Amino acid sequence: MTRPPLRRWPLARAVLTAANGTTLAGMAVAVLTGAKLRRGRHGILVAEGYRRKVPPATCFTVGSVVITRRSAEWLLHEQRADLLAHESRHAGQYAVLGPLFWPAYWAACGYSWLVSGSFGSRNVFERHAGLEKGGYCEVPLRPWARRFRRNADGN
Ligand SMILES: [Zn+2]
Repeated sequence: MTRPPLRRWPLARAVLTAANGTTLAGMAVAVLTGAKLRRGRHGILVAEGYRRKVPPATCFTVGSVVITRRSAEWLLHEQRADLLAHESRHAGQYAVLGPLFWPAYWAACGYSWLVSGSFGSRNVFERHAGLEKGGYCEVPLRPWARRFRRNADGN
């Protein structure tokens, strides 16, 4: 009997992010910033107690390591299931893109800011991970971008 492919994805994600070096980079960020590494779920590691000012987010992900200002217990609590799912999706993006995630993500931030004034709202990686689950809200396009889109749509 074969297992459904989605059950194997967390393992594949963990193996891929280990092989492409992004999880090692996440562990290095944790060690170098004094965050404490803990085991999460489904191949995700949690680095708790991050204290640096940048990035200002409560959580961010590098490889299969979710780095948080809060405790691992806080992040792994069922009330944060959506946030953990969001960050785990980023781990999946690292699994697919490897180190190319970084320039691709920053380009997506730039695009999103350009068309909407928000780094996340129109960022393809944040949208794929789930805007609301990640604490983002969708903001309208800037007027020029709306006009451009209307013209492109032929309306
Ligand atoms: Zn995100």
